[in-house]
Amino acid sequence: MKTIGLIGGMSWESSAEYYRLINEEVKRRQGGLHSASCILYSVDFAEIETHQTAGNWREAGNILTEAAAALERAGASFIVICTNTMHKVADMIQESIQIPILHIADATVKHIQQTDVQTIGLLGTKYTMEQDFYKSHLKDNELGVLIPNEQERIQINKIIYEELCLGQIQQSSKAYFQQVIQDLVDNGAEGVILGCTEIGLLIQSSDIEVPLFDTTVIHATTAVHDALIVKKD
Ligand code: GLU
Repeated sequence: MKTIGLIGGMSWESSAEYYRLINEEVKRRQGGLHSASCILYSVDFAEIETHQTAGNWREAGNILTEAAAALERAGASFIVICTNTMHKVADMIQESIQIPILHIADATVKHIQQTDVQTIGLLGTKYTMEQDFYKSHLKDNELGVLIPNEQERIQINKIIYEELCLGQIQQSSKAYFQQVIQDLVDNGAEGVILGCTEIGLLIQSSDIEVPLFDTTVIHATTAVHDALIVKKD
């Protein structure tokens, strides 16, 4: 098994999910006492969030680049950045390391392409929903992308940073997400991407009518799939 290098802490609430999901997937595939070979470099999210708010993406990217380089030196075969939002600096990180980054949006696209879904609703931080660094990976693969309206985006972003990243799961917020998802479905979304690694703590498949693509689950299970691939010479 290849060693998975995880850049986590954004937030640690979702990194803990990655660790659990990766090990459960290894156990499911290999059985017995098998568990994942992985290394977690967990950063201080307060620092990252301060840089995000100030628009200092290069500074935030420098912190993650250092983490990625440390994981490479420690023997990781590839990198998993455990947040959708910070894929904004994925290219910058990739330039500084030799090992590949398993891109969360690309892994998600591959899953969507296994279904009939062609128009997808995207939920995430305001950066992920509004900017192009993430949506371009969907659009380049012929997927139509719908995002919530401005007022909904503000509220979703607030729930992510002020509740979910702090481990707070509130029924009122769950109901709010369900309503936003229903609006997206009414506007033509055939499925929904949980494009923030904490949303799966609040919303599961059984809570909505359309197929749900939870990026945390997809990213973690794809990482295990890639780690277990045997190269044929
Ligand atoms: N974990 C979240 C995401 O997947 C948000 C935290 C962050 O800003 O990195 O986008």
